[in-house]
Amino acid sequence: MNGVKARCKNCNGEAPADQFKLHHGFKMMVCPACYTGKNKTVKDAVGQREAGPAGLAEARESKPRPSEPLKPAGWDKEDEYLERAARMRKQQTQAQFAPVEGTEFVKYACQHCKYNFRYNPVKKIPATCPYCDFDIPRVKLSDIW
Ligand SMILES: [Zn+2]
Ligand SMILES: [Zn+2]
Repeated sequence: MNGVKARCKNCNGEAPADQFKLHHGFKMMVCPACYTGKNKTVKDAVGQREAGPAGLAEARESKPRPSEPLKPAGWDKEDEYLERAARMRKQQTQAQFAPVEGTEFVKYACQHCKYNFRYNPVKKIPATCPYCDFDIPRVKLSDIW
């Protein structure tokens, strides 16, 4: 006789380990009392239907949307117009400030004296026409390159 005891998971009582048997209804090893049906803990519990908060539909809160995700809205006519306008402006700008490839310089002809010189629109050098000191108009770099 060995005196090893085990705790029954069904009734939480102790019984000799070698007397535990697999109960098919409980689907676990139980003590002899549970096995013979004296304890019905699991069965009773199972008998009671869990009355959960079923059917309680969560109140749908209509959260205020932060902002519509920036989706590429269809290419509408306004976009097309703006795109064309931007392209034309760029062409006009490049006609005046012709980019010198591989540099940050452009070729610029003074509007006043027609003097041709290299102008750095990034550093805005020179600030004025080196010949007549006429102002060089402001130019958007994005319209040049
Ligand atoms: Zn038991
Ligand atoms: Zn000039």
